[in-house]
Order: sequence, then C-alpha cells, then structure tokens
Amino acid sequence: MNHSQLTALGRALRLLGEHGDALTADTPDARLHEVKADLRRALELLDESVTSSAPTTRCAEHPNGPVDTAAPDLCLLCETRRRAARRSEYNGTAPAVPRSPEHTPSRYGVRDDRPQPQQRWLPEMWNGQAWQLCGTPRRDRREAELYLAAQRRGPRPATAYRLVHEFTDYEVLRVWGTPVHVDIEPMGNGGNGGNGGNV
Ligand SMILES: [Zn+2]
Repeated sequence: MNHSQLTALGRALRLLGEHGDALTADTPDARLHEVKADLRRALELLDESVTSSAPTTRCAEHPNGPVDTAAPDLCLLCETRRRAARRSEYNGTAPAVPRSPEHTPSRYGVRDDRPQPQQRWLPEMWNGQAWQLCGTPRRDRREAELYLAAQRRGPRPATAYRLVHEFTDYEVLRVWGTPVHVDIEPMGNGGNGGNGGNV
C-alpha cells in the first residue's frame, strides 16, 4: 500500500466510523444510501490496497490453491501428490510405463510423467450473451486478479468479469496386468565379441 492509498483508505474508514456513531432509529433512508455509497467506496479502496488474496489453505507453497477439506493442510495440490505417492507405494510399482518402444508399439507414444497437478486461472468477461475468455490464462491467481482489476478500470469495461479456476490432474483409476519393466537392450545381444553376424 502506498502513501496516497493509505491516506485515502484511512479517511474512508474513519468516515464509516462516523456514520456508525451517528446511526439512530431515525436515520433517514437518504442518509443510509449515503452510507452505502461510502461503504462501497471504502471497499474499492481496500480492493486496490490489498495486493494478495486471502489464503485459502494452510499450505506454504500453495496458499491460494484449491481446497481439499479432508487434507490436514487443506491443500488439494499437495494432497493429490501425497495420494499418488501412497498409491504407488501400495501398488509397489515404480514407473508404471514400459519404456521400450519395441515392446509397446503404439502410435500414441508414452505419456509424460506428469503427476504434477496443473492449475490455471482464466479471466473471463460477460459479453452480453455468454462468458468469454478475455485474457491469457495465468498460472498465478493474483496476477489474474490484478489483470481483471485493470480491465474493470479500463475505458470501456464489460458489465461483469469472473475468474475461473482450472485444475487438471491424472489419476490412475485401475490397473490391469502387471507393468513389468523391460530393458531397452534386446535379449541375447552382447558377450559375443561383436562378430556382426545375423542369424
Ligand atoms: Zn500445497
């Protein structure tokens, strides 16, 4: 918060206090509307002054990440990672993907090892008919919120904006068979001193 923000916010909050002191059963509606406007003004000033969003989890790494109420630190991202670790421990499988293309001919290729949950924040605006993306999806929630705040203050803002949280992850639901690790080196090749002959 810079100095002018501090001054403006302090003034707005003190004004609200005065409204509170002056409030009686006889306070006319016109006065209440004034209070409402001042309250809204103070909220706007607060919005501009607060630079980070309130933490939603107790996780130091993902304070604003998605919430899993069953997790001790409320962090869905870390809980997903922990669950995956527990699962692979339970199944006794290290990398469950055979690496040899010779043994697994597939035109789909091998999926990346990506147990890391991916999350993005999508800024959207109401275009009159539907919500539409109005900026680059961000990896950082605060950045997306700042972007939307700037859009709202722009010369011709839309009537509404919203922030959408996108969260994707892979979850193995069931495994059929045993993923046996296969050496890339073909069997029976080696130890022959390189005679070069084909059978
Ligand atoms: Zn976390």
